[in-house]
Amino acid sequence: MTENDQLREATRDLVEFVLDRRENISKDKAIRPINKEQLEKVESIPFQGPGRELPEVLEEAEHEIFAYGNDCAHPRFFGFVPGPASPLSWLGDFLIASYNRHGGAGFNQPAVWAIEKKLIRFLANKAGYPEGSSGLFVSGGSMANLTAVTVARDTILKEEEFAIGTAYVSEQTHSSVEKGLRVIGISRDRIRKVPTDKDFKMDMEALEKAIKEDEAKGLKPFLVIATVGTTNTGSIDPLKEIRTICDDNGMWMHIDGAYGASALLSSEYRHELEGTELSDSLAWDGHKWLYQTNGCGMVFFRDQMQALNSYAVHPEYLKDLEVDDSLINPWDLGIELTRPVRCMKLWLTMQVMGLDLIDEKITRSINRAKEVERILRENPNIQIVSEAKLAIVNFRYVVKGMKEKELDRLNSDISAMANATGEVGVFTTELKGKKVLRMCIINPDADEKELETTLGILQEQFEKARKRYRK
Ligand SMILES: *Cc1c(COP(=O)(O)O)cnc(C)c1O
Repeated sequence: MTENDQLREATRDLVEFVLDRRENISKDKAIRPINKEQLEKVESIPFQGPGRELPEVLEEAEHEIFAYGNDCAHPRFFGFVPGPASPLSWLGDFLIASYNRHGGAGFNQPAVWAIEKKLIRFLANKAGYPEGSSGLFVSGGSMANLTAVTVARDTILKEEEFAIGTAYVSEQTHSSVEKGLRVIGISRDRIRKVPTDKDFKMDMEALEKAIKEDEAKGLKPFLVIATVGTTNTGSIDPLKEIRTICDDNGMWMHIDGAYGASALLSSEYRHELEGTELSDSLAWDGHKWLYQTNGCGMVFFRDQMQALNSYAVHPEYLKDLEVDDSLINPWDLGIELTRPVRCMKLWLTMQVMGLDLIDEKITRSINRAKEVERILRENPNIQIVSEAKLAIVNFRYVVKGMKEKELDRLNSDISAMANATGEVGVFTTELKGKKVLRMCIINPDADEKELETTLGILQEQFEKARKRYRK
């Protein structure tokens, strides 16, 4: 067989294998832990002199390496933000990788860059951003947040104020925001964690008070990060109030919508995100709730000029030409130079799936979480800690007479025991000091049957765990 023939055959085999696996995923484990022996086996695969046969190496990757760990695409995996990527996105990745266009410059791939701009424009419109807004595909939410807070800093602060710039997040803000702030030189003692109310939304009185106190100390408040869909509970911060506070104090408003912004595509629920259009910048992940494979995030700027000021190598040159769009390249709007043309996988998915089906899938996930909440409420041993919001629900098992600490342990045990079966992935998080079980229900294949199985397994583990506590 020629080398080319071998490549074709191995590629076909790989495609068959991954598609078969996907078709039967429900029968597979959601979690497959790796034992010490297996890990050692993998670690000992040598980098030898002569190369090996391709089919043999691919088989090793499938059966010895990828076979282990958390399968975030499994329909009974509800931990973190699951990654229910559509095979259309896999195909998009293949397309992107095989052409391997340099995504840093528009002139390298003019038609692809036109698609990126159009897609960004389309989604910016969904967010309610005006003409003159812009954005860019980046690797994910962390990078989108970093890319945006840099522009916030450069726009609001003078360089000599960088050392007193102060930013405001909530107790529920994703850790990537603080990381991004520290990368741009905002030290921990200038990042305020504003408390949240009973619905896990940023407390507006506390925010205003913190801003006033910092001003009195000679600091320079410059940025509030609001979240649309917090990772723990799916809560949405009071966007209009935050805009008013930002206006009153000359501050930038960034929205972290890495998780929740996708609900803008649900005609039934988009109204819950009202106020998103008021922000100065927005982070939105394709690999969270737009069915994309990892490495697909987006950042949006209300005013493209502000992003150019931060990132264009010659911003003044662009300004002189009154921002002739044809002169702007991806490298002028963000941090990366060489990058894959990530837009193409989302484009492919949207073209084939169609917006109507995407709308339906997102809406259905939100409804399913509400339905799960309703079912859980019928169980006298379950307490809802955070109502179903943007497809996330938090609850905990309670037993009369048990102390808080014991309940924390009970719920941690239930999660650990359920996950140890490998059949489900349901993890705990901490809300207002309590250990709770959290389910993020965005996988379109997490249908009624999968949910019933999952709740059944949790209940079984609860019955087992509670016996341990009996005298
Ligand atoms: C996941 C998440 C992030 C981080 O995004 P990555 O794509 O993992 O870098 C940021 N904010 C929120 C709200 C998230 O859910």
